[in-house]
Amino acid sequence: MPTIRTSDEFDRIGQVGEGTYGSVYKAKDRLTSELVAMKKIRLTHEKEGFPITAIREIKLLRDMDHENVVKLKEVVSTKETTHNKGKGSIYIVFEFMDHDLMGLMDTAKMDFKVEQIKCFTKQLLAGLHYCHKRGIMHRDIKGSNLLINNAGILKLGDFGLSRSFNEKDIQYRYTNRVVTLWYRPPELLLGAVVYSEKIDMWGVGCIMAELLIQRPLFPGKNEKDQMEKVFAICGTPNETVWPGCSNLPYFNMVQGKEALPDRLQHHLSKHQGKVSTAASDLLCKLLHMDPTKRMSAGDALDHDWFWTDPMPCDPSCLPRYPSSHEFVTKKRRQEGKEMPGAQPGGQPDAKRHQPAHNNHSNSKGAPPAARPSEAGKGGDRHGGKGHAGHERAPANGSWRPR
Ligand code: ADP
Repeated sequence: MPTIRTSDEFDRIGQVGEGTYGSVYKAKDRLTSELVAMKKIRLTHEKEGFPITAIREIKLLRDMDHENVVKLKEVVSTKETTHNKGKGSIYIVFEFMDHDLMGLMDTAKMDFKVEQIKCFTKQLLAGLHYCHKRGIMHRDIKGSNLLINNAGILKLGDFGLSRSFNEKDIQYRYTNRVVTLWYRPPELLLGAVVYSEKIDMWGVGCIMAELLIQRPLFPGKNEKDQMEKVFAICGTPNETVWPGCSNLPYFNMVQGKEALPDRLQHHLSKHQGKVSTAASDLLCKLLHMDPTKRMSAGDALDHDWFWTDPMPCDPSCLPRYPSSHEFVTKKRRQEGKEMPGAQPGGQPDAKRHQPAHNNHSNSKGAPPAARPSEAGKGGDRHGGKGHAGHERAPANGSWRPR
């Protein structure tokens, strides 16, 4: 049996992220001198043992091998001492990535050229195409989960909410409690528990639009506001544009209200400098209300936008930026704000970093989040492929992404 190395064999350089279950550190492997990222899995407060998100992440990433998916190198543990009495930590060790897209957007002041945006979007699609072909949906596509290195390579990270799906079992009930609010597709906002990998494609549309229009596309304050923002631009869903939508649990939220038309193309045309006709066409296909008509990652890679001038630049041609992670840029901005006379100008909208709300009590009329019980009982907590039945959220409710 292979032995697990201990975290003492790594020199910690600094914190680059704050995850759901602990911090993420930049470190150096003393054995190989390689830079790594170590995600700490805190075990002390876990009533249910090793966190399900960590199990999923290790299990799924262990078997993945693609240029646009982050590499899991190994799992290490802290040395057992009389002090920690066996309640130490486990670390997941990844290849180190110099940036996440959210941090990079801050550092670059959102000012990316179209060929660079095409380069990022293409790599995001290639990573997702690989995952979807392997029957894995990511379920938390957002800027801080897209990691980028100094060679310009973008990789999907944070597979803690991911799980496998079985194309043959299209009636499988998953938890509704996934995807960070601003990137959450309409089917999840309307309470769907039967959904597909197309939930990730909505996120791609939101990220691509954010890069082009230089601000988040749907920055909702809570679930109700999120629905209103989405429907104000994409139109109110109805049986004509999206057959079956009226059967979704929270469809009553849109009933009896003024039916709004689809204004997405018009909205995008305000940004003609960067949003070409081809870009607008691709965005409309990625942000299709009906998930069955929403474009797949494979088809999106073939879209004209990637095959017309300006062509996507080569990753190696992307400018070099100082290392930027959301955790660090956000902290820097907060410290800047606290300094007397600090200039808030030029900083991106802080709301972009606003987490999804798990608690609906402060959002009048917002639909309640699907309770774990609604997602079925006795489901496959480990995301086993092809396991029939339902998916259950953990008892501590920690599945809702921030
Ligand atoms: P969690 O699943 O606990 O939310 P994430 O995997 O999202 O944690 O990591 C949190 C942050 O840590 C990311 O947004 C990113 O900035 C940083 N991070 C994660 N993985 C890496 C990596 N391999 N290299 C560099 N930074 C990373």
